[in-house]
Order: sequence, then C-alpha cells, then structure tokens
Amino acid sequence: MGFFDKIKQGLTKTRDALSESWNDLFSEDTELDEDFYDELEESLILADMGVETAAKATEKLRKAVRDQNITRADQAKSALRVILTSMVSVGDPNLDLSTHPSVILVIGVNGVGKTTTIGKIAKQQVDGGKKVLLVAGDTFRAAAADQLEIWAQRSGADLVRQHEGADPAKTRDVDVIIIDTAGRLHNKQNLMNELGKISRIVERELPGAAREVLLVLDGTTGQNGLIQAKQFKEIAGVTALAVTKLDGTAKGGIVIAVADQLNLPVKFIGVGEQADDLMPFVAWDFVNALI
Ligand code: GDP
Ligand code: MG
Repeated sequence: MGFFDKIKQGLTKTRDALSESWNDLFSEDTELDEDFYDELEESLILADMGVETAAKATEKLRKAVRDQNITRADQAKSALRVILTSMVSVGDPNLDLSTHPSVILVIGVNGVGKTTTIGKIAKQQVDGGKKVLLVAGDTFRAAAADQLEIWAQRSGADLVRQHEGADPAKTRDVDVIIIDTAGRLHNKQNLMNELGKISRIVERELPGAAREVLLVLDGTTGQNGLIQAKQFKEIAGVTALAVTKLDGTAKGGIVIAVADQLNLPVKFIGVGEQADDLMPFVAWDFVNALI
C-alpha cells in the first residue's frame, strides 16, 4: 500500500464521520449562505477541530468565497482544502537531524504512544541506513524499559538504560539518539525537574547536538489532549508534535487544532500499532485523506 493510501485508511473513521454531513453540505444544489457556514463550522467542531480553529477556518472560507467569486459548493470544497492545508502547515515537517549524533527527546503523558512512536521512528531511521540508539529514560517502571528493548530489537537499534549512564562506546558513531521519558504530568514541578535533568545531561554529553523535543499526543483524547499539550509546551520547550491513534478515532480534526492552536509543526501521525504505521506528516495528503 502506498503512503497516501495508508494515511487514507488511517483516517477512515474521521472521513466517514465528516462525509455524512458533508455529502449534503457540499451537494450540487447547496447555496453558500449563512446556513451553509453554520453547518460547516458545526461539522468541523464535531471532527474535533476545536471551536476556535473551526471558526477560523469557516471565516477564511467566507473570505475566499468572496474574494474568488465562488458560487458552487464543489469550488468551496476545493477552497476549504487549500485553507485547511495552510492552517495545518506549521514550520518544518521534517526532524532536524543535522548533527551526528542528533537527539530526539520524546515526551507526553502515559499511554499516548511514546514508546511505540519511538520504535517506529527508530525503524524508519535504521531502514534509512542510520545508526540509532534508544535511551530508556523512564526509570520508574521496569516494564517500560523492557517494552523499549523489544522495539530496539524489532527495529535494529541499540539500547541503553538510563542507570547505565552514557556509555561512550555506545554513543560513538551513532546518528540518532532517541530518549524515552516517563509520562508523569500530575506534578508540573516533577516533570520540569526530570526534563531539566535530562536536558542538562544531553547538553553535557553532547554539546551542540541538534535537538528535537517531540511531544506525543493521543488523537483519541481530543480537546483534553490539547490542554495537556499547552502545558507541556509551556514547560518543556516542545519543538515538534506526533499525533497517534488516528486509526481509532473519528476526531482526526484534532491534528488541525493542535497545529493551529500550539503553532508547532506536526511531524508524524500514528495510524496503527505496527512498526510501519507511522506516517511522516504531509499537510496536503493529510487534508485530502480527510476530505
Ligand atoms: P507510552 O506510555 O506513551 O509509551 O505509550 P505506548 O507506546 O506504550 O502505547 C500505548 C498503547 O497505544 C499501546 O498499546 C500501543 O500499541 C498503542 N498505540 C500507540 N500508537 C498507536 C497508533 O497509532 N494506533 C493505535 N491503534 N494504537 C497505538
Ligand atoms: Mg512508554
């Protein structure tokens, strides 16, 4: 299956939910009147784009319809595609892996899919010929490191557990270091301390390394996830987003909401549990898979 088909398949639930209202909304005899915009906005909110982002998209479409003298619903739909694509295109969709090694620090609350996403990224990098080292930073649960170990084996990456310290022999010749973290957010101070500690170690051991702080969000948690994300952004200097479990939700509009509201680039979307179920984020493909 090609990339686009996989994204499309992953977004089936959201697309089906949207097309239920949109088949009517964008039918041939639709007039682009107040009712049209009201219904459109409502359907975007239902897909979990959030009230603010849905209102913004609707307003932009109104303007496009005016400016481009659009009269037909199918033209409005095309215009909406362009609008959503631009709203979800924030920053560089690629990871900054410009130094050897580069570091990806992966954060997010428990259960969102951090370890799985790390395993998938590791697989992509190893398949691309890179030498990858996974670091188990979640020292609170032995099971967490074991899970990472399974992904290391599956992907062909190396693994160190945090208590082993930074073993110079292991970091030599490594292209990408990916650090898994514990997902505790119940106490901001704890989280800040933990992430601060990891950042200082990275700074000390790997000065000048390109560094991404990848926040993983569970796409099924919708607007709650967005609130979490705002807190993480504040605390942790997030540089990139991955939205997981889009295969399990009809609320894939959350991807547009997080990009727009957090003003951070979405770099990956997760559409399943298997190693090749992590898609690099391509805004136009995403929107076309949705609409
Ligand atoms: P962590 O606690 O943040 O490290 O989360 P895990 O990586 O352990 O993932 C929690 C659960 O979510 C596991 O059962 C994963 O298989 C599942 N998961 C992760 N990403 C996806 C995804 O994109 N789609 C689906 N359906 N499940 C996922
Ligand atoms: Mg984990």
